[in-house]
Amino acid sequence: MQQRLSSRLSQLERAYDVVVVGSGYGGGVAASRLARAGQRVCVIERGKEFLTGEFPARLPELRRELQLNGGTLRSGSRTGLFDFRLGADIHVLTGCGLGGGSLINAGVALKPDARVFADSAWPEAVRRDGLLDLGFERASSMLRPARYRDAEALTKYRALEAASAAFDVPPVAAPVVVSFDDVVNPAGVSQPACTLCGDCCSGCNVGAKNTIAMTYLPDAKAHGAAIFTELSVAHIAKEEGGWRVHYVPSNGKDAEAGFVDAKTVVLAAGTLGSTEILLRSREHGLGLSDTLGEKFSANGDIIAFALGGKEKVNGVGVGHPPKFVSEAIGACVAGQIELPDGEVLDRSMIIQEGVMPSALAPLLPVFFIAGGRLLGAAQSLIKGVYQGPLSHLHTFFVVSHDDAAGRITLDNGSAQIHWPGVAGQPVYARVDAALTKAAEAVGARYIKSPLAATSMGTKPATAHPLGGCGMGDNAKGGVVNHKCQVFDGKGDESVHAGLYVCDGAVIPRSIGVNPLLTITALTERAMVHLARDHNLGFDASSRTRRE
Ligand SMILES: Cc1cc2nc3c(=O)[nH]c(=O)nc-3n(C[C@H](O)[C@H](O)[C@H](O)COP(=O)(O)OP(=O)(O)OC[C@H]3O[C@@H](n4cnc5c(N)ncnc54)[C@H](O)[C@@H]3O)c2cc1C
Ligand code: SF4
Repeated sequence: MQQRLSSRLSQLERAYDVVVVGSGYGGGVAASRLARAGQRVCVIERGKEFLTGEFPARLPELRRELQLNGGTLRSGSRTGLFDFRLGADIHVLTGCGLGGGSLINAGVALKPDARVFADSAWPEAVRRDGLLDLGFERASSMLRPARYRDAEALTKYRALEAASAAFDVPPVAAPVVVSFDDVVNPAGVSQPACTLCGDCCSGCNVGAKNTIAMTYLPDAKAHGAAIFTELSVAHIAKEEGGWRVHYVPSNGKDAEAGFVDAKTVVLAAGTLGSTEILLRSREHGLGLSDTLGEKFSANGDIIAFALGGKEKVNGVGVGHPPKFVSEAIGACVAGQIELPDGEVLDRSMIIQEGVMPSALAPLLPVFFIAGGRLLGAAQSLIKGVYQGPLSHLHTFFVVSHDDAAGRITLDNGSAQIHWPGVAGQPVYARVDAALTKAAEAVGARYIKSPLAATSMGTKPATAHPLGGCGMGDNAKGGVVNHKCQVFDGKGDESVHAGLYVCDGAVIPRSIGVNPLLTITALTERAMVHLARDHNLGFDASSRTRRE
């Protein structure tokens, strides 16, 4: 029987050694490592806790988990699992829940090309001290990326193979943070083997995805961390001897606001969340670098489709328990075509095949009828998406590079991205050309966005937001230093004692691969520095909290 990790609000104490804000990759690592170092740790997460089996499996449940935010537009619960930020220039999708984006992502775990870290966008120390490699090792041993051994037997993998003829580069199995065998993981949590149901992006109802809620958070809890959900941090303020973290209940009223004190605060609320909190804190008088909000990157991340090819793809999830008896679908991403550019890093791209979650299945024909792009959509409505033309739907995820020239500002208290002309970034034309070729190779039509007729429009969208609190050598070049300590804006390199940002916000450029492993590794690295700076040792014992 899986036990909840979160505690009741009545158990929240007045003060802790450390408050970690947010519970995605950065937050999970910080909570686990600092709890292991003997610190009294409190994690504050704005979203809900989902146990295995509680993720949305059908369209009405999925709808209840959608929140749309953009300027004055607000709809859905503030704790909805899928947080869509509709922007004037670009849209962003992030996860909201205990475990952050790990709950709804595809779990692809890749290390960037070495040229990414050779770029002067990073502080020199990141390259120099060797701790980043240690960070990647630690991240991999907890998250355990694996390639599905029978990837080539999956229909969708073979469909990608056919599309790869366009590039003369065969696909390879993608490393994903999924347990393909029954296992007791390094946090002591039992995970059953993946059923290849394909629903990774609406939440794994099997328990096979190695999310933060399955790994670092149970580890943190086993080492004494207290975890609270459905509390949104509004801002932080410097107090005598530490920090005051001001929160409001996520779906509550301002009158129910409260605060908790800590010597150390780790902001790990994600690219938008941590930048928002610092922007609001600056409005309350906190001194910070003038670069706060800058260097926003969409990581050249694109989702697009191809339809009408002759061969089946089987790219719609069946869920668990399966809604449709079929051959195995596969984890959301099973294969990828790697297209590195040896001369110009930014022209490199990776094309991954993806799966649409089963809860979205009833909507797929509707989207394609609305767009008038699929003559057989009516047939799909009748036969379901598993047998009709939509069983030939290719979903492509592409990751590449942009120039990270977006800027996050506050609009009505929430993050808004300004990036005039972003749709003209060369990456989008390059990806369009590549996917058009891939679609032609399988006799299909390339569809850039079936959402063109909706409020999402034709603007670019990303699920890999990066930057906003970028690393730099000093306050003129960034918001945090290489150890993720926040510059106080008073001197070039002087920092606020006990204030850290550890998440995608600190990444100062596109990385050209899916970012979860890099965020985890950078936070592991920052925790090694924090421990050294404060004479803390990590407790390496495997104290577990078995179900
Ligand atoms: C559909 C989808 C598919 C993806 N697929 C992949 C993939 O295959 N591989 C990959 O590497 N990446 C993928 N990503 C991206 C990846 O999940 C993110 O880059 C990653 O989760 C970011 O980690 P983080 O620690 O920066 O923040 P997050 O994981 O976003 O965690 C931040 C947490 O902070 C919470 N929070 C925010 N504001 C507040 C506040 N004010 N108070 C309290 N809590 C707050 C949020 O609710 C969230 O839980 C995908 C993302 C999506 C949405
Ligand atoms: S394919 Fe299904 S069982 Fe496997 S990790 Fe994804 S959601 Fe979980």
